[in-house]
Amino acid sequence: MNIKEILYNKDSYSREEIIFLLNLSDSVEIDKLFQRAKEIRDSYFGKEIHLRGVIEFSNYCTQHCLYCGLREENLIIPRYRMSAEEILDTAKIIYNNGIRTIVLQSGEDSFFDTDLISYLIYSIKRQYDVAITLSLGQRGFDEYKTWKIAGADRYLLKHESANPKLYSIYHKKAKLDERIQHLKFLKRIGYQIASGNMIGLPNQTVADIADDILLCRELDVDMAAFGPFIPSINTPYQNMPAGDTLMTQKVMAVVRLVLKNVHIPATTALDSIDDFGREKGLSAGANVIMPNFTPAPYRENYLIYTNKRGINEDPLDIHSQIKSRIEALGHNISQSRGDSIKRSSSI
Ligand code: SF4
Repeated sequence: MNIKEILYNKDSYSREEIIFLLNLSDSVEIDKLFQRAKEIRDSYFGKEIHLRGVIEFSNYCTQHCLYCGLREENLIIPRYRMSAEEILDTAKIIYNNGIRTIVLQSGEDSFFDTDLISYLIYSIKRQYDVAITLSLGQRGFDEYKTWKIAGADRYLLKHESANPKLYSIYHKKAKLDERIQHLKFLKRIGYQIASGNMIGLPNQTVADIADDILLCRELDVDMAAFGPFIPSINTPYQNMPAGDTLMTQKVMAVVRLVLKNVHIPATTALDSIDDFGREKGLSAGANVIMPNFTPAPYRENYLIYTNKRGINEDPLDIHSQIKSRIEALGHNISQSRGDSIKRSSSI
């Protein structure tokens, strides 16, 4: 295949072409791929980078994902739940720092039931002009509806593998079809949806990653989150090798080529395996960064993976470092909510 042709003269990509791009090994060609991804990003978003402030309010989880340090079987990790008051105080800090998207994130924790999550959404939206992203795992269809009515705008639910066999292995026999039904339902009732996977999960192939990208296209996601797998202690995958920075960058760049106008985060995981992970993510076409505002003493225990960057630092220090790092690359920070540009409104 001709690299120039494939980078510049295509609107739609086949599985074979995606695999070809993911397999690029020549550094000059990889640079061309990254350059093209940045051009496409800039054509939609200019130099603006969107920030999303994350509150990890509970690390209780009833699920068993083999790669995750929060899985229920991990009895070593100290569990916590932030109070509603602490969550709302943290939302205020995020808003006061100029961020216009608040991400409420937790394990699958039914203590935070329909009413309590609705109360949090309503309380935040009543006070601040922000978008709310929920990242609460796979919950009930009625709950999704209630939270949408309460004011939630987006839902982040990664599919982790478009290969049904791998999906069932990673998630202790859970079914990929079910996950896809949840994502489709969320989209249908008006959420902006985000999905994606981890690069370097055990037994994952390049063809699997191509299918992950194609599934994101089929689901018409508004944000595609692809970060590296990082093993977590006290999990079945604790001794597996971590994903690779360059491969993760290539995936992000290909996602930009294939999905074009979606939001793509330069993840904390990428920044955790590489000192310049955020910069490398932005140089591969990302346009979103999600600073973690979870306060001490909780933040050190939201350990989805080991050696997560910044867990012992002050969230405000990290936020200011992130801003400087973004600006040093010639980008500016968006003052808007950063809704999906696929739609005219967030519904
Ligand atoms: S990935 Fe999410 S659902 Fe799975 S164990 Fe971790 S927190 Fe729970």
